[in-house]
Amino acid sequence: MKESIVSLTRKLIEFRTVEKDRINAAAEYCSEWLAANGVHARVLDNEGLKSVVSIIGKEGPTVILNGHLDVVPAGPDQFIPYVAEGKLYGRGSFDMLGSVAVMMHVMAELVQEELPCKVMLALVPDEEKGGQKGTKYLVEHGLIGDVVICGETTNLDIAVQAKGLLQLEIEIEGVSAHGSRPWLGDNAILNAVETYKKIEALPIFNVSTPYFEHPSLNLARIQAGQAINQVPDRCIMDLDIRYLPGQNPAVLLSEIKGVVNGTIRVLSEGEPVQTNPDHPLIVRLQKTAEHIRGRNIELFGQHGTADTRFYAARGIPAVEFGPCGANHHGKNEYVETESLLTFKEILTEYICGF
Ligand SMILES: [Zn+2]
Repeated sequence: MKESIVSLTRKLIEFRTVEKDRINAAAEYCSEWLAANGVHARVLDNEGLKSVVSIIGKEGPTVILNGHLDVVPAGPDQFIPYVAEGKLYGRGSFDMLGSVAVMMHVMAELVQEELPCKVMLALVPDEEKGGQKGTKYLVEHGLIGDVVICGETTNLDIAVQAKGLLQLEIEIEGVSAHGSRPWLGDNAILNAVETYKKIEALPIFNVSTPYFEHPSLNLARIQAGQAINQVPDRCIMDLDIRYLPGQNPAVLLSEIKGVVNGTIRVLSEGEPVQTNPDHPLIVRLQKTAEHIRGRNIELFGQHGTADTRFYAARGIPAVEFGPCGANHHGKNEYVETESLLTFKEILTEYICGF
């Protein structure tokens, strides 16, 4: 079984699912693999990007297994997977083609069984670019359920919360002058730096919750200045804000407006995830994982966003839960092959235990 999961993961890594055509080819391959294993799957197309959806089981609540097929870019060598000392290396091995391979094996194994529930497998594109064309599209078309497991990189712990996203472009003005007489001008870059410091000092960035120490604020981009001998009269700075579940982005925005003397444009927004850790379906997932793992399974909050948010926005308990590994989005990304098997055992027992 482990060999089969590892070999499917390797195959998926080799698709180099960074660009649209590669992602679509991988989606078609997954659909054919499922069909060859007795699992009927549909391929859906949204704006030229393909998702694969498959449902097994006849009645009862629906468990959604969600996996993204796309990966972030990497050098060519990272798309040649290899196994060393129990680790499968390659771009996407951990984030999250290993999970995808596990979920496909779960479907193939359970399709023959009399299930106490339904299982919906959703293999999606576009997660790394915001999920609008993949999971969001599926959710908008009614492909929802009672509990969602996104097979992200959690080392077999369970992420029940995720921070929200608020990305802003702030334009600050100044007055240009000759660079030899800066006192005659008003430097827009310096104004922007002052503005940034005021934003950073706002009390909204100094709150915590049981799952998070604080929100985050990253000054990600600055565009300003045209000539070395000129005082810049315009500075654009882009801020990447990750706020806590429970914080209201409209309140954040109005607090920020209060200290900005300039124009603010919202570039992107994403809702936080706040799944109730005491929800019976989450408690049982934790218990099942602890039973198979033989250790404490921690519930925690993720700093970044994932496709869980599209389900959570509908009030569906959604968690990130996946195998063990490291270096996702970096060099030497790997997944521990034994943990793929453990992940599969947990999913199978969880589904059969409904
Ligand atoms: Zn991911």
